[in-house]
Amino acid sequence: MVTLTIILGRNRNLAHELEALDIDLWIVHDPQPCPVSLGLRSFRQAIWHCHIDSSTTTRTVWNDLQRYITGNDRLVFCLPEYVNGRVPKERIRFVRPAIDALTPKNLPLPLPEAKEILAGLGIDPHRPLMTQVARFDPWKDPLGVIESYRLVKKECPSLQLALVGVMEAQDDLEAQVVFEQVQRHAGADLDIHLFSDPKEVQEREVNAFQTASTVVLQKSLREGFGLTVTEAMWKGSAVIGGNCGGIRVQIEDGHSGFLVNTPEECASRVIRLIREDGLRTQMGAAAKESVRKQYLIPRLLRDYLQLIEEVVLGRA
Ligand code: UDP
Repeated sequence: MVTLTIILGRNRNLAHELEALDIDLWIVHDPQPCPVSLGLRSFRQAIWHCHIDSSTTTRTVWNDLQRYITGNDRLVFCLPEYVNGRVPKERIRFVRPAIDALTPKNLPLPLPEAKEILAGLGIDPHRPLMTQVARFDPWKDPLGVIESYRLVKKECPSLQLALVGVMEAQDDLEAQVVFEQVQRHAGADLDIHLFSDPKEVQEREVNAFQTASTVVLQKSLREGFGLTVTEAMWKGSAVIGGNCGGIRVQIEDGHSGFLVNTPEECASRVIRLIREDGLRTQMGAAAKESVRKQYLIPRLLRDYLQLIEEVVLGRA
């Protein structure tokens, strides 16, 4: 288990390594490296970017964190609801994440090629497919996805389901437990495909799933921002997302995708999208346009440049 003592020790070492550098502006990401600020004499102008939902952080943890973030000129969060109430309001700014359209995961992949990749992974490209790309984690609700699939399967017997949750870290015991639970829940259904091996599914394969699935799901019960939603929308896919966190910000319900609260709602939207080609195309186009306008790297770069200018020029 990683304790505060270990984290502080690592930060002391990091501060020692960084001390020699002549740095004008620090940008520190997330809570883990925050304590580095206390060990640095050169820590003058700084921005802390918190990518996670800190709103429900316990008082004890927040008190510890507060000591390390008070030296920052700006405290950046992804969404207003993720701010913990105990930070100075005038220093708060919001920056939403973005995806890199030039990586193998997000570059355009012609549909026939994407289908060929999926066929190589045992998916029948001629039958409908619903996919969720997500870590095996209870908040991503993989069991709810299987429940939705079973409801749809009654109406569309040829339906297939892919749950893609590559496990990079061998010691992620929680993911392993959830994966085994999902395996048991899937049972002997040959149309449910589970992927967890990083050798089998890499960026291009994720791209293929997000490009060639009939419907992409991100049926989370709780979510940070939900980059998988952004990625699938960027490919012009019809996406159904859990009505929570950043998914709610990204999907305009009924226009650029669907937001759902239950497996039943999810199943009824999947059925509509399987049956209505026009709706799928229309939603996919709206989804892609929304990502183009709001969630690509150049917008993130612009936000960052504004933030840096503000701090460096000492603007309020
Ligand atoms: N991802 C992946 N392979 C997988 C599962 C997830 O490459 O099997 C990637 C996914 O494409 C996305 C990221 O991991 O870029 C997950 O980000 P997201 O914000 O959706 O969820 P998080 O895991 O951070 O809660």
